Amino acid sequence: MAVIEVRDLHKRYGDTHAVDGVSFEVREGEVYALLGANGAGKSTTVEILEGHRSATSGEVRVLGADPHEGSRAFRDRIGIVLQSSGVENEFTVREAIELYGGAYRRRRSLDEVIGLVGLEEKVDARIGSLSGGQRRRVDLALGIVGTPELLFLDEPTTGFDPAARRRSWDLVESLGAGGTTVLLTTHYLDEAEHLADRVGVLSRGRLIAEGTPSELINRVSGTIVSFMLPDTVEVSDAATEFAGILGTNLRLAGRLVEATIDRPTHAVHQLTRWALDADVELDSLTVKRASLEDVYLQLAGDDADSDDADASMQVES
Ligand code: ATP
Repeated sequence: MAVIEVRDLHKRYGDTHAVDGVSFEVREGEVYALLGANGAGKSTTVEILEGHRSATSGEVRVLGADPHEGSRAFRDRIGIVLQSSGVENEFTVREAIELYGGAYRRRRSLDEVIGLVGLEEKVDARIGSLSGGQRRRVDLALGIVGTPELLFLDEPTTGFDPAARRRSWDLVESLGAGGTTVLLTTHYLDEAEHLADRVGVLSRGRLIAEGTPSELINRVSGTIVSFMLPDTVEVSDAATEFAGILGTNLRLAGRLVEATIDRPTHAVHQLTRWALDADVELDSLTVKRASLEDVYLQLAGDDADSDDADASMQVES
């Protein structure tokens, strides 16, 4: 069952076409990540789904309802972590959670929420005295206090230290495993790769790619091989030298050679044979599967390429 259904969504702010014909679905229990550069239209899309903004045109159903109507029953079933929350600095963490929890029928206990977000030591601290990452954890706490069926997370781990990020990933994973549907926006590609069942990439208000992280990685990039050019090889000769082995998808940065290749066994065999024949060492030789970040940079890193990407990068799901 689709928890979120978006069909040909448009949102204009004057001349700005912030969302330009976006369609996607998020299924029950799925963690779906929306990625895209600053200004790509992620927040606008999410705010329309939350009922905080109206669409210019298109069809949007969230938990079977029109979010813009924003009924009490609808609000009771969703949780929202905005990019910046407006919790009063004077409240303590305990007071904020109790106050927000009071609005929900299926509220979690204070202890459970505090434990889930890891704020045990700050339960009686005033919000104003917390660090940026701790405040973000309070935002997360307020998003989950109502045991939502659908949780919106807009850049939830910005400002978190690495341990806190891992902890919140565990939290999102356990919510997902417990059947909560999650719509996530993030600029951390490792976060999306780790958490998301499916990813949609927005560029200039359009969905230019969609699929599981693995589908996108396999479809778009393949394997990346990189090494430092030996001193005995002129940089200017390198492009020709290695193009025959690694193909034309070759990048040079100083003495660093990097190539995206489709047949790693074949290419690495040829490369190391060349190095042995030439009696040179390929320093820092690395062969790795492309990450979602590599894919993202290829797709949306340069928004000017988005029209080309549009034609070739759609992944069936
Ligand atoms: P970020 O990663 O920076 O949060 P985003 O992908 O969430 O970006 P949006 O905030 O949805 O992007 O913005 C999409 C476009 O709409 C941008 O060009 C932005 O300037 C414009 N925009 C957003 N809100 C408004 C508004 N209230 N009035 C006018 N233009 C707006």
